[in-house]
Amino acid sequence: MKPLGLYIHIPFCKSFCPYCDFYKVKADSDLMQKYLEAVVKTTASFSHYGEGRIVDTIYFGGGTPSVMDGDAIAAMIAAIRDAFVVAEDAEITVECNPSSDLLDFLPKIAKAGVNRLSFGMQSSVTDERRSLGRAADAARVRACVELAKALGIDNISVDLMLGVPSQSLSSLSESLDFISSLDVKHVSAYMLKIEEGTVFDKRYSEGKLVLPTEDEVVAFYNLTIASLEGYGFSQYEISNFAKSGFESRHNLKYWNDEEYLGIGPAAHSFVDGKRFFFESDIEGFISGDSSLVPDGEGGSFEERVMLALRLNKGFCGEMPDKFFSDILNESQASLKGFVDVGEDECGRFVRLTKEGFLVSNTVIGKILEMI
Ligand code: SF4
Repeated sequence: MKPLGLYIHIPFCKSFCPYCDFYKVKADSDLMQKYLEAVVKTTASFSHYGEGRIVDTIYFGGGTPSVMDGDAIAAMIAAIRDAFVVAEDAEITVECNPSSDLLDFLPKIAKAGVNRLSFGMQSSVTDERRSLGRAADAARVRACVELAKALGIDNISVDLMLGVPSQSLSSLSESLDFISSLDVKHVSAYMLKIEEGTVFDKRYSEGKLVLPTEDEVVAFYNLTIASLEGYGFSQYEISNFAKSGFESRHNLKYWNDEEYLGIGPAAHSFVDGKRFFFESDIEGFISGDSSLVPDGEGGSFEERVMLALRLNKGFCGEMPDKFFSDILNESQASLKGFVDVGEDECGRFVRLTKEGFLVSNTVIGKILEMI
C-alpha cells in the first residue's frame, strides 16, 4: 500500500501573534464544536483517497491545535481511524502552545495515540517571547515538556525563531542552551520574516520595530547550526534539526514530494499527481459550501528538485544530461561554494552547501532556471 500523510488544520488561536500571516480565527467554543463536526464529516467523505493507501503520518497544525479540548483531537483521530487504514507505528503530531491548558490537554491526546509534539517556544528569553506575543515563560515551556515525557511522549520538537527584536548572539545562546537542557529530539529554527499586513509589518514600516541586521541574522543562523550540532542534532533541512531517527516523517513528505491530504480551511493536498486546497474560509468549510480549489499537477522533475534542495541530502536520482552538465559547470562558476554536484550510488546529485542554505532562494532559483 502507498503511504499517505494526513494534515488537519486547526485554525484557532486565543490571541494573534504580531508577525503571523497564517489563516486563523479567534478561538470560540461554539465555533470549535462546529468545526470538529465538519472535520469528522470531511474526513469520512475523503475515505476514497485511502483506497490502496496506508496513513503513516497525521499532523495537527495551526493555528493552535492545543486551544481545542483534547477530547476533540481524540475524536478527530478516531474519525481518521474509521475512514482510513492507519499504520500501527504512524507518527501522530500535534502542535502545542506551551500553557497551563496543557495539563488537561496532553493526557487526553496521549491516550488517543499522539506520539509527537511540536511546541511553539520561539525563544526562552522572556522579553523576546513577549515581543512575539507569547505569554508563557521558559519555566512553563519546561513544565510542558516534562509533562509530555511523563505521559510517554518523548518525540518532542521545539520552534526557535531567529532575527527577533532585541535578539543578540548571547540571548540566542541562552535559548540554544535551554533547548539542550530540555533534552528534546527535534528543533525547527525559522528566521523571522516581516509578512505583509501583519502588526510587525506596520510597525516596521513606521520605523517602530528595530530588527537585527542581515549580518547579525547570518551570525545567528551559523551559531544555531554549530550549537545544535554540538548538542547532537543533525541539520536535515534548511530550518530543521533532529537527533538521529527523529526527523519529522510528516514534513519529510512535503520535501520528498510524497502524497498528503489536507483537511480544513487553507489546507493543501497532493494526491494522484494533483494538487488542490480548501479555500481560507472557516464558515464555508463548516457549512460544506467551501469548494476544493484545483492547484495544478504536481510531481514534475522541476518541482521535485525545488523541494529536495531544501534537504541536506539534496536531490539525487535520474537527471537529464544537459541539466547535469550545466549544473556541474555552474558549481565551478556562479554557484561555486553554494552547491555540491556529483554522482554516487543513488545517482546524480545536487545539494546546497551550508553557505548555499543561507541564500537558498537565490541558489534554488538559479538551479531551476537550468531545467
Ligand atoms: S503564530 Fe501560531 S499561535 Fe501565533 S497567531 Fe499565528 S497561528 Fe496563532
